[in-house]
Amino acid sequence: MFERTRGRAKRGPKPEKHLPYFKFVKGMAEAGCPVCNQTRSSLDDWLENLMYESANDRPLRHRFDAERGLCSRHAHALCAANDGLGAAIVYRNILELATSSLAKGAPPPVNGGKCVACDQEADAESRYVGLVADFLGEAELRAGLEASSGLCLPHVAAVMGLVRDPPPWFLELHRRTCAGLLEVLVRYIDSQKLSTEARHAALSFEDEMAYKRLAPLLTGQIIEERGPKP
Ligand SMILES: [Zn+2]
Ligand SMILES: [Zn+2]
Repeated sequence: MFERTRGRAKRGPKPEKHLPYFKFVKGMAEAGCPVCNQTRSSLDDWLENLMYESANDRPLRHRFDAERGLCSRHAHALCAANDGLGAAIVYRNILELATSSLAKGAPPPVNGGKCVACDQEADAESRYVGLVADFLGEAELRAGLEASSGLCLPHVAAVMGLVRDPPPWFLELHRRTCAGLLEVLVRYIDSQKLSTEARHAALSFEDEMAYKRLAPLLTGQIIEERGPKP
């Protein structure tokens, strides 16, 4: 009788390790959720290629026109990329249409909230979630995740959606992150009753800033750190 391997994905036989796996493992040393980081990095590569390739990619340009450019998030990402050519190519037709619409008294074209970059991002994200799920039993992935900031909670949930029997270390790693942040936040709330002096004694600067970890942990970091670096 087979013993079901702990941590195996619900999704068929174990795949071979490939270049994206090794790249993912190497990238885990960066601060923040590795799935978010590498999804963001894939999207950055795609946006960078947009500058060079979109001029010749007719279906892509048709899609930009049909969807009236990119959604707000990705339009800002494109403009933050500090290379004007891709942005100019994406938006030339849309600005022409806006100009002529307004000249005729018609409303200008606006994006409806979804775009081709959303699809690129979702594809990359599901690839990396799948990769973590597929290789959860690998010692190097475990070591990398334990040494990293761990996954954000949406990506913990997504991996658990693919894995029949998540290993205890995976659950404990993320439980500990939640419990640690909770402990600091409870101390932070309680310290508000104290005098300023006692509060400073009770909390480190890092404790006082702990609330800033809430959004990245609870909602992910794909859109974080967009725009020019300070
Ligand atoms: Zn994440
Ligand atoms: Zn988008």
